[in-house]
Amino acid sequence: MKKETQAIHATNLLDETAGAIATPIFLSTTFTRDADGSYPKGHMYSRNSNPNRDALEKGLAALEGGAKAFAFGSGLAAVSAVFQCMKSGDHILMPSVGYYASMKLAEEIMGPWGLQMTQVNMEDLKAIKAAIKPNTKLIWLETPANPLLGISDIQAISKLAQSQGIKVAVDNTIATPILQNPIHLGADIVMHATTKYIGGHSDVLGGAIIMREENEWSERLKRVQILMGATQNPLDCYLLARGLKTLPLRMREHSASALTLAKRLENHPAIERVHYPGLASHPQHELAKIQMPNGFSGMISIQIKGDEKNARKVASKLKLFQQATSLGGVESLVEHRKSIEGPASLTPGNLLRLSIGLEHVDDLWEDLDQGLA
Ligand SMILES: *Cc1c(COP(=O)(O)O)cnc(C)c1O
Repeated sequence: MKKETQAIHATNLLDETAGAIATPIFLSTTFTRDADGSYPKGHMYSRNSNPNRDALEKGLAALEGGAKAFAFGSGLAAVSAVFQCMKSGDHILMPSVGYYASMKLAEEIMGPWGLQMTQVNMEDLKAIKAAIKPNTKLIWLETPANPLLGISDIQAISKLAQSQGIKVAVDNTIATPILQNPIHLGADIVMHATTKYIGGHSDVLGGAIIMREENEWSERLKRVQILMGATQNPLDCYLLARGLKTLPLRMREHSASALTLAKRLENHPAIERVHYPGLASHPQHELAKIQMPNGFSGMISIQIKGDEKNARKVASKLKLFQQATSLGGVESLVEHRKSIEGPASLTPGNLLRLSIGLEHVDDLWEDLDQGLA
């Protein structure tokens, strides 16, 4: 079955009460038990499982080609859950450039609990190989990666990891299951901030983990989800399952508009550099074409000629692009990333990150052109 069809049907729950086509929202925290002690509908208590969470998890697993999915209350709760599957003294590799808070979580929160972390350039296989230690248990990738949209080779890294008994997890938030399926490329674990493209309307916080297979990691993850308790509430699960239904269409449009704008921006005299994996000038464009054959998503980073002050001036002149953090919604956003990340950030000061929404591409160009003037 094609993804467009899966996205619509994999999340549907048939409603026996009223025959509703749209899935009902089950807010009940608890479910009835039979005289023999069993739970006839399969649910006991909503922290353990809930029909709306089941529907969302089923849809996510189907779209990623995984065996099992787990939904959490935010993207970072999902990242935390993976780390919580590990033991004190385990070592993980994380990208030197990537979503800032994921690295901070590993360092600030998991560090004192005994998780060892090394940051490495995930575009360099030799550097990854050299950073592996006897106690390395996990390689955490993000591709395309925040905020420079670098690409790491999921297939090559998974092959290397597998040969040493190391698991590979991929933060697939920017590509979404529509444009990239890390499990098909050999990864063991996929993570999404469903807050972004999967929700798609900037009104739900959520995270998900999809496991390639049911194994000791997926068992452990299930226990972490239930016992650490950072599960996702039924209303948000409903909204995310609804978001999944239009995800294939939205990603097509986000990608098409972003590619058009990236090409125009590259020729603009006020621009120093455009970072977009769909451009021939992107250093890993050939790899991106293999990993993301159906589009390069809607995120573009631009470096403005001049310094931080010039970049912030451009951001403040934009009208359709609103200045805000986050990405993946129907509305376009612009963000001066360095000032959001804080003083330790390595992001260039003249960099603006654009999340290309679903407005008409000509209106978006007009706005960028006047902002850069
Ligand atoms: C937003 C984001 C996260 C974190 O998700 P939250 O829902 O904000 O916790 C993780 N990774 C990437 C790539 C993101 O964009």
